[in-house]
Amino acid sequence: MADVDVLVVGGGPAGVCAAVAAARAGASTFLVERHGFLGGMWTAGMVLTLAGYNSWLRPYDRCVEGVPAEWLARAAKQGGAVDGDGWVLNSDPEVMKRVADEMIEAEGIGLLLHSWGARPIVEDGVRGVYAENVDGRRAIRASVTVDCTGNGDIVAGAGSDWVKGTG
Ligand SMILES: Cc1cc2nc3c(=O)[nH]c(=O)nc-3n(C[C@H](O)[C@H](O)[C@H](O)COP(=O)(O)OP(=O)(O)OC[C@H]3O[C@@H](n4cnc5c(N)ncnc54)[C@H](O)[C@@H]3O)c2cc1C
Repeated sequence: MADVDVLVVGGGPAGVCAAVAAARAGASTFLVERHGFLGGMWTAGMVLTLAGYNSWLRPYDRCVEGVPAEWLARAAKQGGAVDGDGWVLNSDPEVMKRVADEMIEAEGIGLLLHSWGARPIVEDGVRGVYAENVDGRRAIRASVTVDCTGNGDIVAGAGSDWVKGTG
């Protein structure tokens, strides 16, 4: 269904930021997300406290910049997040979803919701995925595939080595 430079699988915080960064670098970009909206644990998981934007020792210096900081600032402007100087910054999941949509749309990124990145296309490396939804199974081909599933679904499916973290 698509043939792009960069395919991102998983539209959580990592996937949204990876897709926006890839598109801004000039890559044709496509994003696949299994839920009907973006944000991953921040929205679907109701993890509303954004920990780690600022260091956790006073003074709470900002330690996250770039695309995620822009997401936070835009949400704060819409009254849906606190861009403050504490260690933990609160957010409203509905506004975080909407801002993610706006950022993806603004960069012209192809977006497929309600769809699983089911299996990687492996041809001398990972060259995209087969995505599955109610319409069936379709191939999205890509020069580079970024696994942002949080579970390493694509990496593991391609037979690559992986290690389960302890965090
Ligand atoms: C219980 C819990 C509590 C937490 N509490 C906090 C907290 O209070 N503050 C904080 O800052 N952080 C917290 N975290 C950590 C934070 O949620 C993660 O660091 C962050 O969500 C990681 O982002 P991610 O994009 O890598 O993964 P995720 O947020 O997990 O996003 C992965 C995305 O990929 C999608 N996906 C998965 N598999 C596929 C597939 N095969 N095809 C298509 N889409 C797929 C998922 O639907 C999801 O949208 C918590 C985590 C957990 C588990």
